[in-house]
Amino acid sequence: MELKNVDIILTTDRSMMTNHHGKEFLGFMATGPPIGMPESLWMWIACPKMKTDRFGRPWQAPYALRKLEALLQDHGYNAWVIDPDYVDLYIDKAKIMMISHHDYFALCPPSSEWWVITRKEPVNARSFRRFMEKTSIREAKKRGLKIIVGGPPAWQWLYKVDLWANWGVDTVVEGEGERIVLDLVRKVFDNEPLPRYVFVGPGDSPRLEEISTIKYPSVNGLVEIMRGCPRGCKFCSVTLRSLRNMPLDIIEKEMIINIENGVHNGILHSEDVLLYGARGIKPNPEALLKLHELARKHLKEIAWSHASLAAIKNAEEEYKLISKIMEIVKSGDNQDYLGVEVGLETGSPKLAKKIMPAKSAPYPPEKWPQVVEDAFMIMHENNIVPAATLILGLPEESEEDLVMTAELLDKLRPYRSLIVPMFFVPMGLLKDKDWFTSVKVKDEHIEVMRKCLWHSVYWAEDIINRFYLKKSSTAPLRILLKLFLRYVRWKGRSVEKKLGLKPLDISLIQTVR
Ligand code: SF4
Repeated sequence: MELKNVDIILTTDRSMMTNHHGKEFLGFMATGPPIGMPESLWMWIACPKMKTDRFGRPWQAPYALRKLEALLQDHGYNAWVIDPDYVDLYIDKAKIMMISHHDYFALCPPSSEWWVITRKEPVNARSFRRFMEKTSIREAKKRGLKIIVGGPPAWQWLYKVDLWANWGVDTVVEGEGERIVLDLVRKVFDNEPLPRYVFVGPGDSPRLEEISTIKYPSVNGLVEIMRGCPRGCKFCSVTLRSLRNMPLDIIEKEMIINIENGVHNGILHSEDVLLYGARGIKPNPEALLKLHELARKHLKEIAWSHASLAAIKNAEEEYKLISKIMEIVKSGDNQDYLGVEVGLETGSPKLAKKIMPAKSAPYPPEKWPQVVEDAFMIMHENNIVPAATLILGLPEESEEDLVMTAELLDKLRPYRSLIVPMFFVPMGLLKDKDWFTSVKVKDEHIEVMRKCLWHSVYWAEDIINRFYLKKSSTAPLRILLKLFLRYVRWKGRSVEKKLGLKPLDISLIQTVR
């Protein structure tokens, strides 16, 4: 379809408008500053440019933008996702530019963690700033362009009110956008004033029939299978959303949209894939097997976005469900492993009880370290490769909690995984320009971070050798990643030397495998 004008541009910066070479794990690099190489090379590894048509419409785009595009097109608007390099083609005549992001100012984990450790601004924030400071956007603002921003990190704008004003952002939307966006767009078209900030609470969550089906492919074939999470962890905003399962026919429709447009792999997106179709927090074997059979029928490679460790343990121990699902996954021609993000958060049952009492359910929070260990073992045995996150610096955290986390990390050594520590950053600090220098890092934090580093470096090398980037076309990327890991090993050892720390014995990992 020809495109002359676009009334509503849906876009984001390069750190988001990319498919990370088809490897979601590489997206983690977009949350860090360039280390040991120029920023341009770092960006090429983490966020290569997206292929577009001659009108600047990207081949794949972030799912949230695709959902908005579908919603607005379903309601008759001339709205398109446009690659950031092509925004200038339309900005002179557009009425609205809508932007979505995962981490506008690199204040979410793990960007904030990188920032605290390296004292350097991560590339996602740099890339977003470059985009927002384009002369063409400033000119369009003077002419009357409205800018609406949203997505999970919308709250960050409350701590960046200077940039909110400088960059001419009209409205910030926090929460699920489906209902409010149509109202905001109507206001712009009717020349009515826009609100500065909109918070969408659970009462305004859209019903399933109000959620549009994507019309063009999403990044790496991501397809939403459910929204919301019942576990209610204190540090998580997803908790505010009500639980909704997408029907299988809608999931299938979106998979087919991706495949027909040349995106043959897919990511099943949910805060906890294993709770698809569940009643409460007990997995529903029938719903999960049907979901994976459907995915196997259509997709070359299947990935999960997130799963909870408690559900992994429970699904396997009660129903042998992980083994059954992985049998389905591995029955394809192209797949011998599956990647997923999991929340490890802490090794301390005491802290788990305070901040996430339902995360271990149906097991009691006192058993949390055992739940983690068992789930890691189950994943390792079934070729599921988790990227696990853990939180450091929570206000409730004691030194004893950190020691327990370090002990749990020792027990996880034999299990193939990446473990990324993240700093909890108190909101008040974020107002400060140099907030990252005020984060208090204790010796116990350094010990936990060291253990995570050596664990992840060891297993990252194993993952690349076994599963990753096997095609000859991806050989340069593979070599670069291996060189980068060597650099990280060297840098890690030299920092340990500087701090007078005895090097951790990572050979242990090899002997217990
Ligand atoms: S389990 Fe994950 S998604 Fe659910 S509330 Fe806890 S942190 Fe949030």
